[in-house]
Amino acid sequence: MITAEYIWLDGNSPAQLRSKTKVFPDDTEFNLMPIWGFDGSSTKQAEGGASDCVLKPVMVTPDPIRGGNNLLVFCEVLNVDMTPHASNTRRHCNETEETYYEQEPWFGIEQEYTLMQDGRPLGFPRNGYPAPQGQYYCSIGANNTFGREIAEMHLAVCLQIGLKISGINAEVMPGQWEFQVGPSSATHVSDQLWVARYLLERISEKYGYEVTLEGKPVPGDWNGAGAHTNFSTKKMRRSYEACENAAEALGERAEWHIKHYGVGIEKRLTGQHETCSHEEYRWGVSDRGASVRIPWHTVHHHKGYIEDRRPNANCDPYVVTKLILETVCSHANSDYNV
Ligand code: ADP
Ligand code: MN
Ligand code: MN
Ligand code: MN
Repeated sequence: MITAEYIWLDGNSPAQLRSKTKVFPDDTEFNLMPIWGFDGSSTKQAEGGASDCVLKPVMVTPDPIRGGNNLLVFCEVLNVDMTPHASNTRRHCNETEETYYEQEPWFGIEQEYTLMQDGRPLGFPRNGYPAPQGQYYCSIGANNTFGREIAEMHLAVCLQIGLKISGINAEVMPGQWEFQVGPSSATHVSDQLWVARYLLERISEKYGYEVTLEGKPVPGDWNGAGAHTNFSTKKMRRSYEACENAAEALGERAEWHIKHYGVGIEKRLTGQHETCSHEEYRWGVSDRGASVRIPWHTVHHHKGYIEDRRPNANCDPYVVTKLILETVCSHANSDYNV
């Protein structure tokens, strides 16, 4: 028998991942994974009287948890008339991406996350606090680094199934880690990020660790968790001026971006701990206190990409990438066009 783990996003805010298993006979020919369904009244996606929702497969990979010929089947959610469900942000992202495909936009997302046990991050003692921040970022050693077995196993399984992970690192707060996905198109990078988040949960579950994507898991003098979103168009990959123009353009509706960049983002974007206040917008070269940073190598090579540092770790990448596309790529007859 072959198992297919159907995965989807529920109706919570922020959306949570759900999955269930479908078993197929060994001789099944998987030309196209079949659509399936679920009880939307148990996931905040339907009322009990008309509870059916449809799962439409959009990305199929090997299942590294079960191994063998088993599969992961990442899906979008449709209504029974096959229209996109209200919770289906992927569809909007995909449509926007198609509008601007000629500009060849790429995204790379840095997903930060915090591993928790008994309600506190790994590395936090039962009572009180660990030593202040400074010794944990990119650290080694049992007194500095907590949860490496999870980060390592996660990297290994993501690479094994062909996800485009570009790196991992231990973060500034104990128990906090980061993996990066991309660069790739808006929908593709977002699909991969959701599947990578799924695998992170499944691996951590085995150890009894909770994964939180909360933007500010520990109040006070502890770094929050973001999802820095790196962005370029074909033109930006050829011209520094286009990078500056894009950074400038992102300021045009900063409030609108912040509003959709993740639940609880105001708690993280305080203006401290390598963030810019959510009430402000500014971009800068190499500036980790700016909303948008232009990396030094983009300046150095006179071309490259920019980093939107605002998205929260718990953002929906379909929403974030769609907004960036709309705000930057819509400058139809301007410099941004190819
Ligand atoms: P930081 O210095 O901010 O920690 P990272 O190395 O963690 O940066 O992440 C850089 C991200 O930029 C990666 O996700 C990578 O895929 C992405 N990236 C690299 N080149 C491009 C590009 N041309 N366009 C968009 N994203 C890119
Ligand atoms: Mn990073
Ligand atoms: Mn980081
Ligand atoms: Mn970054």
